[in-house]
Amino acid sequence: MWLASKSNFGQVSFVKLPSLFFAALVLGLSAEPEIVPKPQLLVAAEGALSLQGVVTYACPPSFDESFRCGLQRLLTNGPVSLAKTAENPLIEVRERADLPSEEGYSLEVTPRGIQIAAKSPRGVYYATQSLMQLMPASLMARAIAPPGEKGSEPISIPVLKIEDSPRFPWRGLMLDSSRHFQTVAEVKRFIDLMSIYKLNVFHWHLTDGHGWRFESRKYPELTNKGAWRMQPGYPVPGKTERYGGFYTQEQMKEVVRFAAARGVTVVPEIEMPGHCFAFVAAYPELGCPGKPQETDRFFTYPADAQRFPKVEGTDVLCLGKDRTVQVCKEILDEVMEIFPSPFIHVGGDEVNKSHWKNCKVCQERIKARKLDGEDGLQSWFMQELDHHLVSRGRRLIGWDEILEGGLAENATVMSWQGEKGGIHAAKTGHDAVMSPSNRIYLDHGQSENPLEPAHWPGTNSLAQVYAYDPVPAALTPEEARHILGLQGNLWTVFTHEEWLLDLQTWPRAAAIAEVGWSAKEGRDWDHFLGRLRAHRPRLDALGINYWWEESREFGRWTPAALKPGQEVVDMDFDITASASGLRPGKQSITFTYTKGAHGLSLQSATLLENGREISSDKHDGFAGSKHTGNTYTLDFPTLRPDAKYVLRIRGLGDGGTDSYGLIGQSAVETKRLR
Ligand SMILES: [Zn+2]
Repeated sequence: MWLASKSNFGQVSFVKLPSLFFAALVLGLSAEPEIVPKPQLLVAAEGALSLQGVVTYACPPSFDESFRCGLQRLLTNGPVSLAKTAENPLIEVRERADLPSEEGYSLEVTPRGIQIAAKSPRGVYYATQSLMQLMPASLMARAIAPPGEKGSEPISIPVLKIEDSPRFPWRGLMLDSSRHFQTVAEVKRFIDLMSIYKLNVFHWHLTDGHGWRFESRKYPELTNKGAWRMQPGYPVPGKTERYGGFYTQEQMKEVVRFAAARGVTVVPEIEMPGHCFAFVAAYPELGCPGKPQETDRFFTYPADAQRFPKVEGTDVLCLGKDRTVQVCKEILDEVMEIFPSPFIHVGGDEVNKSHWKNCKVCQERIKARKLDGEDGLQSWFMQELDHHLVSRGRRLIGWDEILEGGLAENATVMSWQGEKGGIHAAKTGHDAVMSPSNRIYLDHGQSENPLEPAHWPGTNSLAQVYAYDPVPAALTPEEARHILGLQGNLWTVFTHEEWLLDLQTWPRAAAIAEVGWSAKEGRDWDHFLGRLRAHRPRLDALGINYWWEESREFGRWTPAALKPGQEVVDMDFDITASASGLRPGKQSITFTYTKGAHGLSLQSATLLENGREISSDKHDGFAGSKHTGNTYTLDFPTLRPDAKYVLRIRGLGDGGTDSYGLIGQSAVETKRLR
């Protein structure tokens, strides 16, 4: 019998009696299931189910692949194998047509067995992912293991009941494979990790000026020429060498299959009519103007990350020529043969329309079609593609610039320049996916910490990403139905290797997953951070090089501590309690101004143990509305439980005493930073 329950499905709740905490400790389980994203309804009860040896199961044949795939890590790393049976199975998977969502599921663990019900294979996969999160983190270690390395400890799963379904149907991440190229294995790992957190759209940015990655059999020059560029500085420092790669049609089909088994739809993107430098390099006659050119070169990584060497040429297709439009449609036909996704992304962003202004044939098209200038030409082209895709049963999606000159009839907007594109789309009856760059882009930094590797300018911290809600306040409930969900975009300008992809993506992708999946009313930053903190052993076991920064407050300065007339003062902060648990070694102490007319000029920071100086950093710094040198490095010893630790700050009010701020320490615990 359940200890408590809420019958109102869809309401967020977690119900647990205190006794479970002790039971869980005895069993070596965590006290509270830390499922990410948070299920709609979770009811915990006393007891546990133990799994070991041959686990019998029953499952409809159409769900079997998702079920087995979802438990792959358990089968690889745990002392468990599966055997199908019709008689008294330990795990019973059944189809339940009355669930509110295609992706919804219910999961019930009792001391006697596990019941899973879902409407579709996706729901079954999600049930297994929640189930895996109830098992020891070490099981997440490998999806494929060498033989004979399975664990021998029985797996203990807490008794509970979950009813779950997503808030939004589109919970996506975008990976840019053009700026830097990832291997098929890297792409599959990216998708696999997404699926663990119930993210369900992998938007694959396959083409851009810096490399064309989609193998077209009809237009082979796209990859013969367009997939390669001369790259200064990487992978060999100091040399400029040929860099690139592409995905064969067979490889892309394999990625689609791999993703589908994990509930992930691959939405391919072919950028048109801008961002086409590589396209035009392959077929110069389709550019505007149509002259021979190289594929775009890229920055010198990592020495000179922000310098983009200029290459002669154009990144814009010539839409005055019928041939261009024909080739684009034929490429999309090839794309549709490989990708069953209902949505095909056609880009449409950042078109340099001056090329069309100066092109005779483009101007002739504008005149002949009575189009409204260059915006009208872009809109006309998107309508052509829209009709082409719709006639083949697909839907067009593009970046918010496809609104310029008028949105094509059936188009869906991916809103990246803030929310206005998505709001406009929803208000005019079009669907939209929200991916505002200033809120949830993954190529932006996530910290102010100087240890963070180079990234696109701007910061979207984990907390900021978690705080984002995809439904703008400007929409009525009726209009809000057009918001399909949200997506984090990882442009790989600064992300040339997999450890950096990891670092930019995680743990922010988990926040995106929870915003997309869990009920808005139940979202709570502190609770999420707590679950995520408990979740770290899983991220570690998965081998993810995620960004993690633990910060603590050591004190605050206020005008009361400062003296007028620029007099230097020593401020002592007892940090014995707040430093507790701090790892020995060099730690950064940062001064962050919070308010006031003036700032704090700093001269030194010193650590005292029982009144004795043990580490000091003397340099001039300033913390005000602008700050310089405001981080001090102190060498912390292994802290003695019987000692008193004091942080002594020497400084003065700069121009006056009206200044307030925080003194904090942050430790970056990411495994690899350089
Ligand atoms: Zn032209």
